[in-house]
Order: sequence, then structure tokens, then C-alpha cells
Amino acid sequence: MRECPFKDQCKMWEKVVSPCIPYTGARQPEVLFVGEAPGQEEDEQGANFVGKTGNLLRATQYTVGFDMSKVAFTNVVKCRPIDFKGANRTPKDGEINKCKGHVLAEIEALKPKIVVLLGSTALLGVLDEKGITNFRGRIIEKDGITYIPTWHPAAVLRDPSKEKAFAEDIYLVHQVWTTGNRQNVSQVLPVEYTLIRDMSGLKQLLVSASNATECAFDVETHPGLSPYVENAKIICVNLSFQERTAFVVPMFHSQLILQGKVLEYARAIIKEIMESNIKKCAHSAKYDIMWLEVAEGILTNNLAFDTILAQHLITGDRSTIGLDYLAWQYTDMGGYDKPLEDYKNAHKECNPKLGGSYANIPWDILFPYAAGDPDCTLRCWHVLEPKLSLPYEKLIP
Ligand code: URA
Repeated sequence: MRECPFKDQCKMWEKVVSPCIPYTGARQPEVLFVGEAPGQEEDEQGANFVGKTGNLLRATQYTVGFDMSKVAFTNVVKCRPIDFKGANRTPKDGEINKCKGHVLAEIEALKPKIVVLLGSTALLGVLDEKGITNFRGRIIEKDGITYIPTWHPAAVLRDPSKEKAFAEDIYLVHQVWTTGNRQNVSQVLPVEYTLIRDMSGLKQLLVSASNATECAFDVETHPGLSPYVENAKIICVNLSFQERTAFVVPMFHSQLILQGKVLEYARAIIKEIMESNIKKCAHSAKYDIMWLEVAEGILTNNLAFDTILAQHLITGDRSTIGLDYLAWQYTDMGGYDKPLEDYKNAHKECNPKLGGSYANIPWDILFPYAAGDPDCTLRCWHVLEPKLSLPYEKLIP
């Protein structure tokens, strides 16, 4: 029986048939699949992914053409977590923390070319990241190893709408492994965002707008989502005419905003742009259009595209239509909203859901987020619009 080096800190091993199951499969794997924890069948047989979940994983690997002699399987938690009725259960964060040293040591010792992280426990245990929905299908390079997160096959068995994405991710693993192709690797290129503070900033905005044929727009609002409440104000209007660039025009905030004549000119320029013939796009445009009209009396002309509607048409899945999701799927901006989300969650006065307002979020946090919104929208417009002209049968996933 294997003895766990952490056995003094954790008692899980006492209840199982096979304590501390190490990686199984190829001895020197080129691809290592990391799951959550052994289930009942794994515990009984002392091997990883031998039950129903493993069958789905292997079936997908065979379909894609994996050379199984170079593949191994392991888990973040090495002993089967058992609930009070004797059934499998999800490991707790504390158990993951105590146990993850094993899998990190395995990765370090085996140095596989690719580590496939199956589900959120594997993502958390190995990369210390949360949110498998955002991370799945991405290629992450760290310390000379390529990590590709995807759904846990058990999640696919529970929700067949995940099947296609799961198969695509496993196919991606195979592609990267056999061709070395890293085309999808996130390569974050620089952006040029401008927070307008004075007349010279406004001039820059005017020059960019006068050369533009398209514009993505977005507003941040105070105190919440409705422009009809007392005190409703637009905090800033955010515009992008070209990928990787954006302007943020600050109008209402607890710190810096434009004042007096500069603010008047800013309003006039925004009105000119929004009412011009430049083709426009927003993510859920009806919200921004409503706010511009109700709070500022600005109308929107020539709305050409809406990224939220396009994504909805393509995926038919409401869980994939947020701009944060699109940023991961179609751009190198994945996670651009995280600093703001973290800040908002840590500061009640900044969180509209808790009675706060974005007008209290410091500009160093708010500005990159506000500028990122229209930039991301513009980039997604460029990806989504051609997709919509595909024949119907190619469009439907
Ligand atoms: N689920 C896992 O996460 N690991 C296994 O080994 C089997 C099922």
C-alpha cells in the first residue's frame, strides 16, 4: 500500500481502498491528463480514469487519433473523496491545497509536453486559476510546459451541450502535440488607450473620429443600470475606432472628470460621432443607446452590429454571450475585466449590486476596463460578422 507523504495533515487515505493513487498510463508521458480525484472504480482498481468518465475521455482520445502509449492520467486529489453515504464527492478547497503538491511534483518530474487540465479542480490545483468556462480551449505556456484546460468529462456526461467544445479541445491538444503549432497561444499585443483629460485629448479624439469608418461604443453608468432613476448619470463614454485603441471620456466620477467648456465640447463631439454615419457596434447596444438618449439627449445613428446578439445567434447559449467570455474566445484580451471585478468585489461602495457605484472605482482600475470594452467589442465584431455570413449549417455549432 502506498504511503502518502502528507498523511499527517490529511486523513482521506484512511477511508479508501487505494490511497494516494499516482499517475497511471505511460511511464514517460508526452501528454498528461489531470482530473479532480479518483471515483469509486478508480479507488477499487487503483488506477485513474477507469470508470465511466474515463471511458468518455478515452473514446474522445481514440476518435481524435491519440497515440495512447504516450499518454498518462493523474488527479489533483489522490485519494477518493467519500461522502457520508459512501458516494463520490467533490474535494474541498482545503483538501485540494493539501494534496496538490503531489500532482505538481509529478509534472515537475515527468515534464510532459502538454498537461491537459480537466475541469475547475485541475485548473485551480495546478495553475491556481478559477473559471474553467473562461480558460477552456486556451493554450497556456508556463515554465516550458503547455497547459490546455478543458471541461471535466464528468461535466460533459452531465451536460451534453458541452460535448462539442470538449471534443474540439481534445482535438486542439492533439494538434498542438503532433504539429507543435501554437497559433492559438495567447500573445498579448500592446494597446493604446487614451483617457481624455483636456482639450488636447479631445483634439486627438476628433482626429481619430474624422478618419474613422467604424466605431464601437460603450458607456459606464451611475448608480446602476437604469437611466430613469434620480441622479442617473453617464460616468464615461468609451469609443474605439481601430483595434487596440480606445478613448475614454470621463463625465461623472468621484475623482477626475472633464469640467466646464472642455466637458461641453466633449458632449458636442460625442453627439457628432454618435449621430454621424460612421458604422456603429456595441455589446448589447440597446442599453448604451438608451443611456445616451435618456441621460445626454444623444441619438445613435447607423447601428450596424451588436456582438451580444451575434454571439447568441451563433451559439444559442446564454452562458457564452458576455463580453468577458467573448474576450477569451475571440481576442487576446481574456481576463481584461478581472482587476475591476476583483476591486468591485472587495469594495462595497464600488459595487452597484451592493448599493455602490462605478463612479467610486479609482480611474487606474476603471480606465483600462472602460477602454477595453469598446476595443474588445470592435475586435469581436470583426470576428463575428464574417461568421454570420457562413451558410446556416456551418454556423450552427
Ligand atoms: N474523475 C476524475 O477526476 N479522476 C478520475 O480518475 C476519475 C474520474
